[in-house]
Amino acid sequence: MTLTKTRIKPKKTEGETLPVMELFYSVQGEGAHTGKAAFFIRLAGCDVGCHWCDVKDSWDADKHPVMSVKDIVEEVGLSGANRVIVTGGEPAMYDLTHLTTSLKKLGLAVHLETSGSSEVRGAFDWICLSPKKRKEPWEEVFSKADELKVVIYNKDDFNWAEKNAALVSKKCKLYLQPEWSKADKVMPLIVEYTKKHPRWQVSLQTHKYLGIR
Ligand code: SF4
Repeated sequence: MTLTKTRIKPKKTEGETLPVMELFYSVQGEGAHTGKAAFFIRLAGCDVGCHWCDVKDSWDADKHPVMSVKDIVEEVGLSGANRVIVTGGEPAMYDLTHLTTSLKKLGLAVHLETSGSSEVRGAFDWICLSPKKRKEPWEEVFSKADELKVVIYNKDDFNWAEKNAALVSKKCKLYLQPEWSKADKVMPLIVEYTKKHPRWQVSLQTHKYLGIR
């Protein structure tokens, strides 16, 4: 069951500044674009609160500096990256229209990593939807998703994965990814599940194995 939510009319200046936890140039470790160089914009603030979250420091936006989109884009430009991944926290809490249109002017491919807990606002070339049980995705995000990445913490999460896969488009790629602290336990289950249901692929947090961010 997806949630019905009320849209809040955005203020004119919304999205011109954003709370930023970290900016860094690295390699995408997960999902369909694994192994590709990418500049990460990790926005602060999350309204979901997964108990196994590995970036809990991102939850409270007030603990992080607010940056202008102009300054963020300038840092991205200096990196020489050709791809940028907007992540969090939960980046869809913010109107990302200003940020994404500014990044696209630099000719960058712009990706979003979201739980879909809010309506997605912005111009993206790739949307990775990673739905969370604590706050189910906004209905419209399913049709926009290029990639569905479901974190597997226990057996019940396979049902959760199928429930979400039924709502995405046919072109959407499907990934099962072990929750890091449970990887040893759930990986054999994921392998067996993928063999039986080959429309799914395994996604690993390869950046953690490589010891990079
Ligand atoms: Fe952490 Fe992402 Fe869950 Fe937010 S949605 S609590 S950032 S895993």
